[in-house]
Amino acid sequence: MNYKSTRNSKISVNSANAIVKGLSDEGGLFVPDGLPKLTKEQVLALGEKSYAQRAYDIFSLFLTDFTTEEVLHCVNSAYNDRNFDTNNISELKKLNNKTHILELWHGPTCAFKDMALQILPFLLTTSAKKTVDGKKIAILVATSGDTGKAALEGFKDVDGTSVSVFYPVNGVSLMQKRQMATQEGSNVDVCAVEGNFDDCQSGVKEIFVDKALAEELKKHNILLSSANSINWGRLAPQIIYYISSYAQLVKNGDINFGEKLNVVVPTGNFGNILAAFYAKEMGVPIGKLICASNANNVLTDFIKTGVYDRNREFHQTVSPSMDILISSNLERLLYHLSGENDKLISQWFDSLKKNGRYEVSSDVKERLSESFYGGFCDDNATKQTIKAVFDKFGYLIDTHTAVAYKVYEDYKACTGDESVTLIASTANPYKFSPAVLEALGGKADGNDEFEIIDRLERASGTKAPTALMETKDKQSRFNDCVDKVQMPERVLKFLTNK
Ligand SMILES: *Cc1c(COP(=O)(O)O)cnc(C)c1O
Repeated sequence: MNYKSTRNSKISVNSANAIVKGLSDEGGLFVPDGLPKLTKEQVLALGEKSYAQRAYDIFSLFLTDFTTEEVLHCVNSAYNDRNFDTNNISELKKLNNKTHILELWHGPTCAFKDMALQILPFLLTTSAKKTVDGKKIAILVATSGDTGKAALEGFKDVDGTSVSVFYPVNGVSLMQKRQMATQEGSNVDVCAVEGNFDDCQSGVKEIFVDKALAEELKKHNILLSSANSINWGRLAPQIIYYISSYAQLVKNGDINFGEKLNVVVPTGNFGNILAAFYAKEMGVPIGKLICASNANNVLTDFIKTGVYDRNREFHQTVSPSMDILISSNLERLLYHLSGENDKLISQWFDSLKKNGRYEVSSDVKERLSESFYGGFCDDNATKQTIKAVFDKFGYLIDTHTAVAYKVYEDYKACTGDESVTLIASTANPYKFSPAVLEALGGKADGNDEFEIIDRLERASGTKAPTALMETKDKQSRFNDCVDKVQMPERVLKFLTNK
């Protein structure tokens, strides 16, 4: 299988090149050239296998330039019980006959980004061996919280790699800051930046195009790379858990093969829900794809009107991982829905860059609303939903999952569609303890995150995950804060010991 660029269909590379490059030279994203189709027998057979085996079977369809040993090395290094707190890697929680929660937060950082970032280092180093052998890969990450920690955990002590993370000094939660400051590993660096997330992001982008720095790194045989969600190596792992969930629901007797499963995804950059779309295109009987947003509801409007318009107020919400106005992975979906029309995609995304806005053609709009439903939920409704779900089912959800749950309720009320539904749960509730505690009626005042966790444990009768509690006794290793202009120097010093 090869991968084409969304902005130039003539460009075609194998998976190793797509993963090492991340982005195509003219700015397009890599998409598979024709999706593999799964038969009923194949899906049923997956139901009998472990998560790592399911991942092996599915990756083999996408990474056709990898050897059997290489794919096995990747999946076994990532999906094991040292990295995840359950052998099943992700868990299904049945709320009632129609509603299943897919817990994607059993990895080391307690958020769903581990599902992809635990395997990406191995996909990347294996790909690099096949394409730019001998080079050391230096990952640069600008983060508003979850991605940075997940990348640090994924890449820590992986041979031939290093990872540098920059985060806005006042833009992440206390727990996120602590998780990053206490990071272990000999190939990691973490640094706060004076400024907001955009400053970090543009600082990292400038490092990527810094010619003098590139020269210097070349001398040391180092290749800069990114771990952000437009890399195919982050998207492919996400397809697996949707296929795996369907196979598991059939095996558990919760759904008959062929019966439509609706999928609800709390969405930011559109990576997670796009993976569900790919699973559907591969033949998994998925019904509606329900795209849930917070007050930053640019996607809700887009699905309704076909107009994508980022010219609007930015809201800081209690579901910060979805506080996004540009959903990069949407470009891949529109490429497929437009019949792989690279000219149109280039036009639309040029217009997004220049005017902050584009409008899709009427046929694309129609296809979009056939497959997708969009809805949103503000902070008040998010907190009320956490309380309502806890009171009804005794089950504690985080703020992002609550957004999904509320939009699912709205969807049922508005369409009458009562199909069996899978709700993607993207973070452990303790990762966002203050808002979850307030939702249950508690007070989240003060600056001690462990005091708040303690109150939440008492209010809910649940236990905080070990991975978060462990950070309490760990030494804080990274406490520096730099100005944006000092970022290149910081990276160079870390990578070359100068
Ligand atoms: C990143 C993230 C999301 C959004 O996922 P996308 O793939 O960007 O749409 C939702 N919830 C949590 C907790 C996240 O960390």
